[in-house]
Amino acid sequence: MSPRRWLLADQLGPHFLDDSDQPVLLIEARELFRRRPMHRQKAHLILSALRHRAAELGDRAVLLRTGTFREALDQLTGPVEVCHPHSRVGLRFARSVPGLAVLPPRGFVTSQADFAAWAEQRRRGPLRMVDFYRHALRRHGVLATSAGGAPARRRPRSAAAQPLPPPPPLVEDEIDVQVRRDLDRWAADGVRFVGRDGPRRHPATHAEAEARLTHFLAHRLPEYDRYADVMSVHDPLLAHSALSSSFNLGLLDPAPAVRAAEKAWRDGAAPRAAVEPFIRGLLGWREFLWQLYWYLGPRRAGGPAATEPLPEWFAELDADAVEARCLADVLAAVRDGAWTHHVPRLLVLGNYALQRDWCPTELADWFRRSFVDGTDWVMNATVVGMSQYADLPRVDTRPYAVDGSDIDEISDYCTGCRYVPERALGDLACPYTGGFETFLFRNRERLVGDPRLAAELARRDDPEHREAVLAQEEKRGSTPP
Ligand code: SF4
Repeated sequence: MSPRRWLLADQLGPHFLDDSDQPVLLIEARELFRRRPMHRQKAHLILSALRHRAAELGDRAVLLRTGTFREALDQLTGPVEVCHPHSRVGLRFARSVPGLAVLPPRGFVTSQADFAAWAEQRRRGPLRMVDFYRHALRRHGVLATSAGGAPARRRPRSAAAQPLPPPPPLVEDEIDVQVRRDLDRWAADGVRFVGRDGPRRHPATHAEAEARLTHFLAHRLPEYDRYADVMSVHDPLLAHSALSSSFNLGLLDPAPAVRAAEKAWRDGAAPRAAVEPFIRGLLGWREFLWQLYWYLGPRRAGGPAATEPLPEWFAELDADAVEARCLADVLAAVRDGAWTHHVPRLLVLGNYALQRDWCPTELADWFRRSFVDGTDWVMNATVVGMSQYADLPRVDTRPYAVDGSDIDEISDYCTGCRYVPERALGDLACPYTGGFETFLFRNRERLVGDPRLAAELARRDDPEHREAVLAQEEKRGSTPP
């Protein structure tokens, strides 16, 4: 008899099983939800996905509900195996369980050995996503064309343009009803959540995720590039797929998704200019972050130690306390739906924290707990390395620091905000502009290698103006803007 395959809560798609009658173990361990307050909708999605998978597998699967993973494993007899967990804590635990076989990782296109070989070739140089992406395209034969060259860039669409068709709504079922009841009971028993409960907005099964992917490829992929870098108060989704939680729960396998997007281009259903950035996100960024997490190991990030704690209004998603229109809208989206696309994450949330020296590891933990797709391996490099400007060993990171005018250029937030994006001083000063200048003044030595920010510093570095901005930001402190 084949060993029982333990499917972790982020290994729930068919590509985590090999044959159609292998017995399966699923574990719902409360310790996962007790450690730090998780967004209520994230907890719902995890439990719903686990229970839907158990229902799909029927008699083949046992679903154990215990306090800890070890309690569940102690109940089993016979051989058990698990695919390589997706966090260092999970891997350490799996390796500590006597007799538990740990299989190679799944759910990623590039193998760890291939990445290590690529990284070793660059022994002296920094590791850059763009170089890795080129390697991955060649290695997997994706987007190969005899014409060569980059696709023509198309003009970005305005954030206020006609909305694209949204994905079909998800219909909650009896499993979701039971999950909601259980979470209410847990909350009454003292398990703390952040954010608001609401209808399930993200797929909990492979079938739901596939249906959303098919809809995205047909309706939003053709416009993907034109909305990739804008934000709108009227349309939080724009042309994004919002499938990151489906990939990170293992419901979708990225390799066929990459092929399906490529096929849309080859069939003439989407221009290459739109398909390429989507594939870059999946085959480039997503894989690069996953590989860095394991390749670099738990080494601490360098750079200046930003140590300010997250203020309570931010940690608790208190959007109503905030007047800055962009931050209030994005924080409300996280509170009410546990998701925003990557631009508000970097330029509204991460940028605000970077400007105020908030502790990067605390911020990464907040992102991991507050977003339905939050994982250790994504947040490690994106939050600590990229959005927060802490040096990761050997990785070429750039700070995502921008001011209010930059936010105004790519969004419709500033019209109707009580602040003025160009102003750094005074009652109407935009907190992002004052914060941006404070960041420049405080980090002047580090900006030498960054021509954009060095030029911004030179343009604004008048001593009198500098003292006034620093004094104003000091006074603003950690109060909600
Ligand atoms: Fe955000 Fe500043 Fe624009 Fe207001 S003015 S929406 S705070 S960037």
